[in-house]
Amino acid sequence: MKNVRQDNPTDKSREALRRVAEMAGPEPVMPEGVETIPVCQPTLKGNERKYVIQCMDTNWISSRGRFVDEFEKNFSHYCGVRFGITTNSGTTALHLALATMGIGEGDEAIIPSFTMISTANAIAYLGAKPVVVDVEPDTWNIDPDKIEEKITEKTRVIIPIHTYGHPANMDRLEEIAKKHGLEIVEDAAEAHGAEYKGRRVGSFGKMASFSFYANKIITTGEGGMIVTDDPEMADRLQTLRNYGFTKERHFWHKVMGFSYRMTNLQAAIGLGQFERIEELIQGRIDNARLYNELLRDVPGITTPRESDHVKAVYWMYGVLVEDDFGISKDELRQRLADHGIETRSFFIPIHLQPIYSYLLSDEYPISEELGRKGFYLPSASSLRPDQIEFIVDVIRNARS
Ligand SMILES: *Cc1c(COP(=O)(O)O)cnc(C)c1O
Repeated sequence: MKNVRQDNPTDKSREALRRVAEMAGPEPVMPEGVETIPVCQPTLKGNERKYVIQCMDTNWISSRGRFVDEFEKNFSHYCGVRFGITTNSGTTALHLALATMGIGEGDEAIIPSFTMISTANAIAYLGAKPVVVDVEPDTWNIDPDKIEEKITEKTRVIIPIHTYGHPANMDRLEEIAKKHGLEIVEDAAEAHGAEYKGRRVGSFGKMASFSFYANKIITTGEGGMIVTDDPEMADRLQTLRNYGFTKERHFWHKVMGFSYRMTNLQAAIGLGQFERIEELIQGRIDNARLYNELLRDVPGITTPRESDHVKAVYWMYGVLVEDDFGISKDELRQRLADHGIETRSFFIPIHLQPIYSYLLSDEYPISEELGRKGFYLPSASSLRPDQIEFIVDVIRNARS
């Protein structure tokens, strides 16, 4: 397969491996028998159960059914656009969006280096090439100042992500896209309900993809959605999601489609979650406020910054462990684990992934610094203030 690259340990890749080892040691070991605070968990306390049972009782369990339509309509309108096309994951949503735009062999797509692997994979699945750009030190999002040097004749699209729920600098991205005749597709998997200058993410650019994996702000267990304001795109997305069936004849295919549908069962959970979206977002924001307040006087811990013109939704509450904290990030994570507190290390940047080793020819110092220093604390919407106080106490006491 063309896109699967072989490991060949050049000096550069050996050196990269050393940098990866600095970012994330072995996962901390949780002692047995202590009560754990998970890094994230969903709360299914609204109509989720009732709606799922309705699916069962009425036999509507496949991708046809009223919950799929309602969930698509409600969530897309919430984002400020007209159409929503559900999928079976956030990764397939992005893949489908790019396929629908005709991205393929010979094309390049610009993404931040600091992101989850799926952003890059969705591009590579199509035979196109992910081109990565370093991120800003304060927002941890793609750095607009570093995009233009990466644009070539092959560039088709810029795919920002809104890291951990903080919107990317959409004014600058739109300006750059317009100047170079590029499209924007948001990977909004981490930022349901986040706003940039009063506008919700998902409404910028040609399309946006969301994930509803169990740890996202609202969930369907597994699932995703593309939102768009473009009726022609919406139509093509629907066709391509469902094998590329033609309208005039069943089982007749003029385009190569996918089998990426969401089930009514998943959408039933999604609709129940959507009804509580404001409460679930507020839970995340309240967590961040309390963490910020309590961590303010802990030297050596850098807390996330929020730009003036945005509403960040704090999908995950990430911190950086600076050198003057006294112990390493891995040691701190183990100390937290000793108290039953689960954490996750930040992303290992895309250019350090062995499957994208061709990206090693350039440097991405901010992404690497984040990878080295960053991890996230328990962030579920249902986290209680006393749990946050306990977590911060453990951090404070771990300092040396
Ligand atoms: C979670 C996530 C995805 C992938 O979503 P899945 O539903 O797990 O496929 C894609 N991009 C980003 C930025 C994510 O955080």
